Amino acid sequence: MINLFEPALGEEELAEVRAVFASGWLGKGTRTGEFEAAFAAHLGVPADRLVSLNSCTEGLFLAAELLEIGPGDEVVLPSVSFVGAANAVAARGGTPVFCDVDPHTLNPSVAHIAPRLTAATRAVLVLHYGGYPGDIENIAALCRDRGIPLIEDAACAVASRVSATACGTFGDIGLWSFDPMKILVTGDGGMLYARDPALAQRAAELSYLGLRQVSGYAQASTGGRWWEFQVGPFGRRSITNDISSAIGTVQLAKLPSFVRRRQEITHWYDDRLAGAAGLRRPAPPPPGHESSYYFYWVQMDRRIRDEVATRLYRRGIYTSFRYAPLHLVSAYGTQPALPGAERAAAETLCIPLHQGLDDTQLDTVATELRAAVAEVSELAGITAP
Ligand SMILES: *Cc1c(COP(=O)(O)O)cnc(C)c1O
Repeated sequence: MINLFEPALGEEELAEVRAVFASGWLGKGTRTGEFEAAFAAHLGVPADRLVSLNSCTEGLFLAAELLEIGPGDEVVLPSVSFVGAANAVAARGGTPVFCDVDPHTLNPSVAHIAPRLTAATRAVLVLHYGGYPGDIENIAALCRDRGIPLIEDAACAVASRVSATACGTFGDIGLWSFDPMKILVTGDGGMLYARDPALAQRAAELSYLGLRQVSGYAQASTGGRWWEFQVGPFGRRSITNDISSAIGTVQLAKLPSFVRRRQEITHWYDDRLAGAAGLRRPAPPPPGHESSYYFYWVQMDRRIRDEVATRLYRRGIYTSFRYAPLHLVSAYGTQPALPGAERAAAETLCIPLHQGLDDTQLDTVATELRAAVAEVSELAGITAP
């Protein structure tokens, strides 16, 4: 099966994991400090604004908590979002208010977000679909003008930038994921950025039992009762560990080569799928925008999409659609129709894109995709435009 996503891990990561084993310390320690510092340098932000976590979902929940989202509060987010984003809002009693997206980029623009803002809006929460930055500069400006905090779910956008500013750092809180399906993977892991250092400090406390006064081993040499502590917020334990962080530091060093290969694959698909009747390809990022090339998606007539996916699966090619629109999920309550999101959900298929794909596999994907679209169109009696 040619996978949609696949991590690229090698001997370099294994060597660092061995070194962590040999050190006898597996928990959050110096390796995590190194990874946080390297990731801060990658983003171009001070290291004290970053808090490493066990997942990006935890970061989304922390963001809702840091902004004190509660009953009666609305958070505007695109319907085409990761399910954990809406859960983070709803779990605190807040109301997710879904906005529409552009049916081709699957990103929202200011024109989609602005009409959904009300006096009860406490935050805007956007992602960067497929790693493409989207309208983030204008969305950030809108939020600043209206005094509404902006949360950026940059899980798809680990290397995405607009005019050299890293996605995830345009707003007040940014989040990244290092789960096994992402580009930079650590097994599981996440990172939170807070523009306000006090908020970052609170996030660190919430992610480690609310501990205020650092206690334990590191304090023993100073004398006194190092086993005593104070608690600030009632936090849980959602920290990362040095095994994951050691992997992360190696992966981060490889990230530029990962993104280069993904860009190459994207261009290759663009060339090979150009002119295929009935297939629409993603638009390249506009000048000044750098994508992480996390997804490659194609769009086609909604009458053939599902059957094309099934045929590809039978021929050993796994495809999918991310992210099924949340305004159609009944748990979030009845929501108005969102034509852009619904159109995207009916016509879009994400096809394999990861840095481990070789040219033979790419050739198979492009050939089979073109064939499946042609066959199913003919069966459905659709003549290509
Ligand atoms: C993967 C993903 C997440 C969740 O990340 P985890 O680390 O698995 O919790 C959140 N948002 C988006 C857009 C994602 O793609």
